[in-house]
Amino acid sequence: MSGGNAVTTHGISKRYGRETALDGVNLRVPEGAVYVLVGANGAGKSTTLKVLMNLERADAGTAEIHGLDTVRRGPEARAQVGYVPERPDHGYRWMMCRGLLKHVAAYYPTWDHPYADRLSLAFGLRLDRQVATLSKGESRRLQLVLALGHRPPVLLLDEPTDGLDPVVRSRTLSLLAEHLADTPTTILISTHHIHELESLADHVGVLRDGRLVAQMSRDELQRTVGRYRVEIPMGWQATRELQVAGVRANGVREAQWTLVGDQRELIDRLTLAGAHVREVQPLALADAALAFLEHEVTR
Ligand code: ATP
Repeated sequence: MSGGNAVTTHGISKRYGRETALDGVNLRVPEGAVYVLVGANGAGKSTTLKVLMNLERADAGTAEIHGLDTVRRGPEARAQVGYVPERPDHGYRWMMCRGLLKHVAAYYPTWDHPYADRLSLAFGLRLDRQVATLSKGESRRLQLVLALGHRPPVLLLDEPTDGLDPVVRSRTLSLLAEHLADTPTTILISTHHIHELESLADHVGVLRDGRLVAQMSRDELQRTVGRYRVEIPMGWQATRELQVAGVRANGVREAQWTLVGDQRELIDRLTLAGAHVREVQPLALADAALAFLEHEVTR
């Protein structure tokens, strides 16, 4: 294990032709964390998970799962992982779901048959259906059973609720919460639906154009990002320092800014510049992460 982290990447970069998918990403997913990776379309989330699964080879950098290099000790590293890919690629499309579950179970000494049966039931999997005939959502549910069924210590979930109907979506999140309560697990999950993970997530990583622009725990995020309600005198001009931070008054008397940084220091800077901070509200984890995504955050 590297410093209590279950998943680590050291400066991974990946290009596809002229496209930079990942640019020096240093991921630190602490043991036992539910780490949500967010980013706009094309930011590099799936590529990160594929590199961890050794489905894509990084051009530079290395990655480890529980201290196992994902390339040099790939099979051992992957044995630790339950993976839900963005686009399921079942190699055995001709099989019935029941057959595929049996087939995959045989690979894992830790496969928990009663649990997998329970999950299949909870997800309403029709075991007598051929894999090739499954709808997008049905296929996702099968993938979730395959990923969770061997109770792996690490789950890599690439938009796991994508394509699921609302009822199954919320059931999936409950099942994940139950899974976490029963099995010590580290989860790295990429999603566009960060609000639905508000209660589960405790760490967030924000990818922008292949670069990890923020990575912090829930507590740090809430300490670092705040909504500042600020009263400003008529004709107030932000000082040069605050202009650098992106604060603009535009002649309004009161403004609300989402700011990142030490709260005390920011209040001092604003006060010194002649503004009066009326209130600082912490943001929910999802809103703080979204602020990073929307470029709303100023430094
Ligand atoms: P989304 O939210 O849309 O799923 P993402 O954050 O998962 O996006 P990736 O799928 O990791 O993004 O893609 C990162 C970048 O790499 C994108 O610009 C994408 O077009 C490019 N890319 C990914 N896979 C390939 C590939 N096989 N060939 C060429 N370019 C690729």
